[in-house]
Amino acid sequence: MPTSLPLPVLLVFALLIGLSIGSFINVVVYRVPLGLSVVRPRSFCPACNTELSSFDNAPVLSYLVLRGKCRTCHAPISARYPIVEASTALLFVGAAIEFRHSWSLPAIWIFLAGIFALALIDADHLRLPTRVVWIHLALVTTALVIPAIATNSWHNLFVALCCICFWSGSFLVIHLISPEKLGFGDVRFSIVLALMLGSFGAGTALLGFFLSSLVGLMVSLALIAVGKVARDQPIPFGVYLAAGSALALSLQPLVPSRYHF
Ligand SMILES: [Zn+2]
Repeated sequence: MPTSLPLPVLLVFALLIGLSIGSFINVVVYRVPLGLSVVRPRSFCPACNTELSSFDNAPVLSYLVLRGKCRTCHAPISARYPIVEASTALLFVGAAIEFRHSWSLPAIWIFLAGIFALALIDADHLRLPTRVVWIHLALVTTALVIPAIATNSWHNLFVALCCICFWSGSFLVIHLISPEKLGFGDVRFSIVLALMLGSFGAGTALLGFFLSSLVGLMVSLALIAVGKVARDQPIPFGVYLAAGSALALSLQPLVPSRYHF
């Protein structure tokens, strides 16, 4: 378990794995909405289709060495790729610092990577691909069930199940009343959010539930106020759900223990 590693070793591990996963998130976000495989072919330059060598595909570093241009055709490479890689690494390091004593750290890493990828896809395409949502849920569930088996403690998962009933149940009701306000994709996405946050107790899940709604509402109202979006324009609600949940997770240690249930 990560708890047995000295902190500097854990942080270097988190940084390296975060950079690699960030690179994979770029692949998922680009390819899944186009219906392409995330495994084959190897990464290529979208301008000249040249396959990238491992040396030109190193997270962040290659972008800096190549000064943001393809080695073959010199077409500019979007700065978003290294930004996503560096942000994922920061998320992984932050989670490692906060949750280094928790059996949940691997689940949290998988959770953060998944919600980051889904938020980016939602921002780009206004949808949360069903396949990615279910695979993400399956991976997070597995990463939470393994420590539950190892420690024979099922209480946290039982609380998480109750949180799913509350959070996803509320979203389902809103969706049934007003499907144009809240799509079924958001209902499906809320299951993994309630599961992860609920495994830390009902207080953390409630915090995530309210923060996500609050972040979504405030940003939407601000965008309408400055005329960036029309009142009836669809918004990528998954982005706010992901941001609010990540925020709740980072604030989790501040939730009073009497709300941990
Ligand atoms: Zn090129």
